[in-house]
Amino acid sequence: MARYRESTCRLCRRENLKLFLKGERCYTEKCAFERRNYAPGQHGQNRTKATDYGLRLREKQKVKRIYGLLEKQFRNTFERAERQKGITGENLLVLLERRLDNTVYRMGFANSRNEARQLVRHGHFLVNQSKVNIPSYFVKPGDVIEPTEKSKKMVRIMEALEGVARRGVPSWLELDKEQMRGTVKAIPTRQDIDFPVQEKLIVELYSK
Ligand code: SF4
Repeated sequence: MARYRESTCRLCRRENLKLFLKGERCYTEKCAFERRNYAPGQHGQNRTKATDYGLRLREKQKVKRIYGLLEKQFRNTFERAERQKGITGENLLVLLERRLDNTVYRMGFANSRNEARQLVRHGHFLVNQSKVNIPSYFVKPGDVIEPTEKSKKMVRIMEALEGVARRGVPSWLELDKEQMRGTVKAIPTRQDIDFPVQEKLIVELYSK
């Protein structure tokens, strides 16, 4: 499957925002964005005025990169959001938030969405007692998510859970840290998206 192979820290510098793509490293002084807070490349420190198109493109790229999707997957999710009732931009964010890989990360079983995606793909998680290895699976209220019995002993997962107090678990999810089990309490709302984003710019970009 296609995936992004370049330096992930470049993406934060390009979007001028910490995207938290590298887990624990993002919270340390080794964070590249903390050390070089300007766009990558030879002209990264030059000031240029963004066009309207540029602003919309950057907003879309930012969200796409936070959730670790490639263009086609992102576009498919957008089209699904368009078909739903309500505000397309909000629908898009809610759908992205409901992905199983994001949910595993938000529950604290992984240090980053990339790590969560890999763990899901390798079959380390159960949804309602059944193995689900599809990162794009959309969770729904009442779903119970937990590592398989064997995977509960994985150091990666146990270490990630140790960091959950710092990251926090959003209100639409519930974590039983002792049992290593999470429950989806509700569909996430726009207020649960905790990074700055103007989703209407993404809608405008794709509506052109
Ligand atoms: Fe972004 Fe994390 Fe790299 Fe910092 S360490 S630049 S937050 S991916």
